[in-house]
Amino acid sequence: MISENLFNEAKKFLPGGVDSPVRAYKPYPFFAERAEGSKIYDVDGKTYIDYCLAYGPLVLGHANPLIIEEVTKQLKNGTAYGVPTENEIKLAKQVVKRVPCAEMVRFVNSGTEATMSAIRLARAFAAKNKIVKFEGSYHGAHDCVLVKSGSGAVGLPDSPGIPEDTTKNTILVPFNDEKAITELIKKEGKNIAAIIIEPVMGNVGCIPPKEGYLKFLREITAENDIVLIFDEVITGFRIAEGGAQEYFGVTPDLVTFGKILGGGFPIGALAGKKEFMDMIAPSGTVYQAGTFNGNPVSIKAGLTALKQLDSNFYSEMNLKGNKLRAGIQEILDSQNLDFKVAGLSSMFQIYFTDRDVLNYEDAKSAETDIFQIYFNKLLQDGVFIPPSQFECCFLSLMHDDDDIQKTLEVMENAIKTVKNS
Ligand code: PMP
Repeated sequence: MISENLFNEAKKFLPGGVDSPVRAYKPYPFFAERAEGSKIYDVDGKTYIDYCLAYGPLVLGHANPLIIEEVTKQLKNGTAYGVPTENEIKLAKQVVKRVPCAEMVRFVNSGTEATMSAIRLARAFAAKNKIVKFEGSYHGAHDCVLVKSGSGAVGLPDSPGIPEDTTKNTILVPFNDEKAITELIKKEGKNIAAIIIEPVMGNVGCIPPKEGYLKFLREITAENDIVLIFDEVITGFRIAEGGAQEYFGVTPDLVTFGKILGGGFPIGALAGKKEFMDMIAPSGTVYQAGTFNGNPVSIKAGLTALKQLDSNFYSEMNLKGNKLRAGIQEILDSQNLDFKVAGLSSMFQIYFTDRDVLNYEDAKSAETDIFQIYFNKLLQDGVFIPPSQFECCFLSLMHDDDDIQKTLEVMENAIKTVKNS
């Protein structure tokens, strides 16, 4: 069946025809048949260079041969045990070795579970209730963080079904704004348990922190007994071996991971200093549990992925990212367009706005109608990026010079189409 028909069929059985909202774009999403390296192939016979990469996990590209080999061996030995395994210790040691704040790790199944548990732990540690998140940051689909998370209404839950009683404990502040945090803490600091932040905002496009901003947050949280949580579900193992905390030289109290850590299989993790992590059940009283926590298939895939993510990998990803971003900037310059090229390392996006993008409000000034024209033209010409102005695009190790060259040609055409529209 072709994608259009599959989507019509899917809508009868799956809400909106998909299992996660951003996947449903107009007029219908392509349905995947298979994927390998930098390419994804659809059921209609088309091939795309993939910069969505399953929204981030696939830094080694699709179907990494080593991961396939190791996971195949693991599958034959069982897919879930409900008892501990040595590999969980090995993966935890890898996380501890790489990530500055990590002394102990709890493996869960998704980024959502990781942030949910990290926030519970922070609240228990600080014995306070309120949390602070940044406008436009996304920390998963659970109640207390679904406030202004990418595209929601101001100060209210982004979804019906979330009691305002829950979100009244979630305070929103603009990203990259020292004054806003300073004033908030002066007023409310004694009630604030934690600040949770994506060190590089990756769910409103891609917004890096201003120079010194993360360090400022580290200092002001430490002075006010507020737990600092870095949500590194995107940046973790992506922008440096030790993630954003290594890249920016700032160590939070707790960190959350997902995506890359599972080598393409479902995973999440929270990690931090021993004094925090020891509070988690069964060594402590902060409840956290899961049938599939530490799943042997995901753990094996994660171990095999991390083995391939050494310092050479990060230098190469930086080069690829710089090359692509410089190429896009050249195209925009040659067309006299003042749109903004954003990103670092293997993360990138074009904002269709002439405003410098430092926070959510700036990002929202981007013209989504123009993005739609750009997205459709890329797709038509065989380049797949996430179907939203407010997602981030990713490169993998498998994107070679030919892919990047071809992508820049396709982008040039798309940008000319935008200009003439
Ligand atoms: N935090 C961040 C920063 C994310 O980008 C995401 C997912 N895009 C999540 C948390 C939630 O992760 P998951 O989809 O695995 O639940």
